[in-house]
Amino acid sequence: MQDPHVIRDAFAERFGYHPRLIVRAPGRVNLIGEHTDYNEGFVFPIAIDREAFVAARSRPDTTFRVYTAQFDQEDSFTIDQIERRPDMPWANYVRGVVKGILARDLPITGADLLISSDVPLGSGLSSSASLEVAVGYAVQLLNNINLLGEELALLAQGAENSFVGVQCGIMDQFISALGRADHALLLDCRDLSYRPLPIPPDVRVVVCGSGVHHNLGNSGYNERRAACNEAVRLLRARMPKISALRDVSVASLTANADLLPPTILMRARHVVTENQRTLAAAAALERADLVTFGRLMNESHASMRDDYEVSVPEIDLLTELARAVPGCYGSRLTGGGFGGSTVSMVTISAVDGFVQEVAAGYLAQTGRTADILVCRPSEGVGRATAV
Ligand code: ADP
Ligand code: MG
Repeated sequence: MQDPHVIRDAFAERFGYHPRLIVRAPGRVNLIGEHTDYNEGFVFPIAIDREAFVAARSRPDTTFRVYTAQFDQEDSFTIDQIERRPDMPWANYVRGVVKGILARDLPITGADLLISSDVPLGSGLSSSASLEVAVGYAVQLLNNINLLGEELALLAQGAENSFVGVQCGIMDQFISALGRADHALLLDCRDLSYRPLPIPPDVRVVVCGSGVHHNLGNSGYNERRAACNEAVRLLRARMPKISALRDVSVASLTANADLLPPTILMRARHVVTENQRTLAAAAALERADLVTFGRLMNESHASMRDDYEVSVPEIDLLTELARAVPGCYGSRLTGGGFGGSTVSMVTISAVDGFVQEVAAGYLAQTGRTADILVCRPSEGVGRATAV
C-alpha cells in the first residue's frame, strides 16, 4: 500500500502547490474465464490491493502536465491537440483517456497529474487499465463530470483500443472501476451485467509471476481471436443464429465437430468449456465450495495448455508446484498466456509455506525467481484519503 501523504508531497515538490485530490484504481487478476471475453462470454476477476494512484489539480488553462514516478518522466500537451507520442509510450494511456473524455463532449480544463503505482508493469496484472481508470476518474472529479463506473470502464478500454492500439477486452477496466472488496465479479462480457460473489475470508488469492514473457504473445493472441471467429463462421452453416462462441454449448459443439478443422475445434472447445467452467466456478463459490472451485481452476489450466495452447513450461511448473502444497485448492495460468503469471487459491494458514515452497521449487528447477504476490480482493476506483 502506497502512502497518499508521500504522493501528496511529491506532487507539491514537482508542481509547487498541493493536489486537490488523490484517487486510486486497482490492478486485477482473473480467477477463471480466460480468452472468453472477446467471445462474449464470462470472466471472473478480482481487483487486487495493488493500485495506481493519481494526484491531481485543475489548471486555469488547457494544458495537461503529467508526471509518472515509474519512469521519472513528464509529458505535457494541450487539450485542443492530442496526438500519439511514439517516443513516450506510457503517455498515450493518459492522452487516450483525456481524448476519450473530450470525444464525449464533456467540458474539461487542463490539469497537473502525478502518477505513482505499485501494480507491477507488464506482468499481466493490468497496470495499464488501473492507470487509465485512475486518470479518467481524477479528471472526472476535477471537472464535476458524472460518469457511471461502466461508462468510465468503456472510456478507458476505448482509449487502450483506439489510442494506444491494444485490442484488449473490457474485463480489466471493468473490474478496476467496479471491483468490490472481498468479492470476485462474475462479468458477462456480452451485456456487461455482473454479480459480485464473496471470497471466503479464510483463503488468499496468490499470484506467481513466472518472469517469462514471450514476444509471440501478440501474434499468438491475434491468431487465437481469428480461430474463434473462424469457428463461428463455420458453425453457422448449421447454427445460423449464433453470433459468438458464447452461443455454443458443449453438446452442440460436440455434435457439430465435423464442421471444424482439428486446430479450430481445439480452440473452440477451450472457449466453450471455459464458459461452462466459469459459471460452475461462480456457483461453487456461492456455496463456499472451494474444493470444486479449485478443481475447475485446474481443469481450466489443462484446457489452456492442451486445447488453447497458450501455456509455457515455466507456467505449467508453477501450477504443479502450487498444487503440491497442502492447502492449495487449485492453480492455473491467468491472463493471455505465453508466459505471465499463475493464480492459485490457498487457505490462509498455508500461505507462508506456499510462498516458500513454490519459490524454492521454481528457483531449483528453472534458475528463475518467481515474483509472488499474496492478494486481497479489493475495492474498485475511488478517492484515496482526503488531502
Ligand atoms: P499490464 O497492463 O499487464 O501491466 P501492459 O503492457 O498492458 O501490461 O501495460 C503496461 C504499460 O502501461 C507500461 O509499459 C506503461 O506504458 C503503462 N503504464 C502502466 N502503469 C504505469 C505507470 N504507473 N506510469 C506510467 N505508465 C504506466
Ligand atoms: Mg494491460
